[in-house]
Amino acid sequence: MKKKLNDDLTLFYTNNFPYKSKYKSDKKYFVTIGIGGNIGNVKKRFDKLFLYLKADARFDILMTSPLLLNPPFGFLQQNDFLNGIIAIQTNLAPNEFLKNTQRLENRLGRKRSFQDAPRTLDIDIIFFDNKKINTPKLTIPHKNWANRESVIIPLKLMNK
Ligand code: ADP
Ligand code: MG
Repeated sequence: MKKKLNDDLTLFYTNNFPYKSKYKSDKKYFVTIGIGGNIGNVKKRFDKLFLYLKADARFDILMTSPLLLNPPFGFLQQNDFLNGIIAIQTNLAPNEFLKNTQRLENRLGRKRSFQDAPRTLDIDIIFFDNKKINTPKLTIPHKNWANRESVIIPLKLMNK
């Protein structure tokens, strides 16, 4: 199902987005990740990511958002992005968690080129419990999350 919000923004409702788990998790940390991509079949790649996370005992998926198609920022000569949010519970510490999301980006075909470049799959950690982290490798909460439609709109719809 598809819902146009305005000239720029369109929502997509698929099998795994949005989703709500029926089970409770006893894992320690609540993590919110943002996912995005604008090359090839992004919906299919998001589904693969969902299945990888679901099959991995270190992660419990709590819920996911609908997907938002929205224009690029920064480098504008590229396709619109599809973005979504996944809420996860885990016992992994932030750095270990980041290593795993980077591994998943690579597994799903990510090549790094330049800043704001087109991408198959970007996984950003938006929140990690209520931690504040500022290291060269990790900024939590994610910088600029609050003024990105690609984050706020899916996040709002997920928590409705
Ligand atoms: P961006 O998402 O900003 O377009 P990348 O996905 O290429 O860029 O990420 C670049 C670097 O950002 C990563 O190597 C990672 O160490 C760092 N980083 C800092 N904070 C975060 C975060 N909250 N989530 C994911 N990566 C982060
Ligand atoms: Mg990133």
